[in-house]
Amino acid sequence: MTGQGKDGGDRRGLMFVLSSPSGAGKTTLSRLLLEREAGLSMSVSATTRAKRPAEQDGRDYHFVDAARFEAMVKNDELLEWATVFDNRYGTPRGPVEAALSRGQDVLFDIDWQGTQQLREKAHADVVSVFILPPSAVDLEKRLHSRAQDSASVIRGRMSRAAHELSHWAEYDYIVVNHDIEEAFAEIQSILRAERLKRERRTGLTAFVRDLQQQLGS
Ligand code: 5GP
Repeated sequence: MTGQGKDGGDRRGLMFVLSSPSGAGKTTLSRLLLEREAGLSMSVSATTRAKRPAEQDGRDYHFVDAARFEAMVKNDELLEWATVFDNRYGTPRGPVEAALSRGQDVLFDIDWQGTQQLREKAHADVVSVFILPPSAVDLEKRLHSRAQDSASVIRGRMSRAAHELSHWAEYDYIVVNHDIEEAFAEIQSILRAERLKRERRTGLTAFVRDLQQQLGS
């Protein structure tokens, strides 16, 4: 999982995971990261959930039926998968492995179940961030303002939020989304610092050896 970086050559691509209860701002934060950070691509999940009006197949999700999803699981085409709100969601393996091997970082918008599976498979490459809403009232407001789901779906998502929250302590970093730009700046700092970690910078040994040679001559 290495690729060409600057100042020291190769770097291992990292798996940058954002999780949160629905409505905590994760989709907006993911979009901002992709717009403003080079070298990062989104992992587009497969799901059996129905497409929302604003969503586009292949961009937001790969919308598949239950039989296709089952086949993907059987053929080991998914890096991880889970059932969320009675629908199944999973991460296609191919695009993630291709991006990481180019030294590109991959952004995941997945739940705690998927994060646990990624951590088991690729612990050293996973950086996980849990986003908290500032309050329950705020979370409910955001779910209503999305106006993409029915009232009963929103009620279901609110009651699931408490369960999802209970997994916060499994994550490397916690960001409270009081303000979208502030939360974005925090997440960007996490990504930038993690990119500089010595263990990921596989090209540094040769880079430093060169520097030492130049200094010695
Ligand atoms: P939504 O239906 O609102 O798009 O997503 C519902 C939940 O499923 C979110 O918490 C989202 O992070 C999670 N999710 C989306 N894709 C995946 C995936 O590929 N794997 C897992 N484990 N969870 C996912």
